[in-house]
Amino acid sequence: MACIAVVGLGNMGGPMAANLRKAGHTVQGFDVSARCREQAAAGGITVASSVEDAVRGADAVLTMLPNGEIVASVWREAVAAARPATLMIDSSTIDVASARAVHDVARGAGHLSLDAPVSGGTEGATAGTLTFMVGGDPDSFAAGQPLLAAMGRRIVHCGAAGTGQAAKICNNMILGVTMIAVSEAFNLASQVGLSHQSLFDVASTSSGQCYALTTHCPVPGPVPTAAANRDYRPGFAAELMLKDLGLSQAVASASGTATPLGAAAHAIFDAFVEQGGRGRDYSAVVDYLGRLPAT
Ligand code: NAD
Repeated sequence: MACIAVVGLGNMGGPMAANLRKAGHTVQGFDVSARCREQAAAGGITVASSVEDAVRGADAVLTMLPNGEIVASVWREAVAAARPATLMIDSSTIDVASARAVHDVARGAGHLSLDAPVSGGTEGATAGTLTFMVGGDPDSFAAGQPLLAAMGRRIVHCGAAGTGQAAKICNNMILGVTMIAVSEAFNLASQVGLSHQSLFDVASTSSGQCYALTTHCPVPGPVPTAAANRDYRPGFAAELMLKDLGLSQAVASASGTATPLGAAAHAIFDAFVEQGGRGRDYSAVVDYLGRLPAT
């Protein structure tokens, strides 16, 4: 069994660290938030006092952090403190250029490295059923696969460094667009006397079926584990969805790709986050859409 440093013990990193521990690994965790450190300690994680302290003696380092800037700063610290040929894995969702830059930092210091962002949300992180989309060379992938298997059910090697993040950005553009579509349908149903449950019963077994509907259903009732049943406490925070849609729009404009629905979803989440959505689950966009004037 390995000793693994986990940096970022939030909504996703906390349960991922717990699953590594359940698989028999020693986990040394660090987070800047005292609340996250306390929760992790209660779950049997050895809590470190800094990134350097967490990384000391570890065979692998896993980061699960809010954005590329923070990942770059944590990796600089971690790479310097890690012992030779440590496996560095970043599972945060960040832009492709930052992912490639941190790979270079790790490889330059003689470490193995992977970008391994995830899909499956906090439910998948807790259940150990995440999908990992992985970028990196074959040696790093071979070293990382058993660790990722302790936290996920499906592990896809997408190609060279950065391709895991490219897959994640495309996937979340689909999720942002479909959450808006599902929310609009529930708002429309309410206006014409169709109950939320009836719409769910039909669409979840018909051609409207999608993850935004069947796992993150934006209205209370049909899916008991959805954030809608706990007053939209995240889950997946609206500002993180806005970040992801911003990443896909940046790639779309840099590559000259037309993504009109991706652009519209970005504008809608931008307005929603500005107007009270920050800190709420992204599925609460249903409330924001319901308040818009009819077109
Ligand atoms: P979160 O805000 O709950 O967790 C991030 C944690 O990082 C926080 O606890 C924060 O205190 C910690 N942190 C910030 N700066 C730090 C630093 N310098 N050193 C140590 N810790 C630091 O966010 P989350 O929902 O766990 O998401 C983490 C990443 O996973 C994001 O990139 C997000 O886009 C991605 N993601 C989230 C979900 C989801 O459903 N929540 C799903 C897939 C991917």
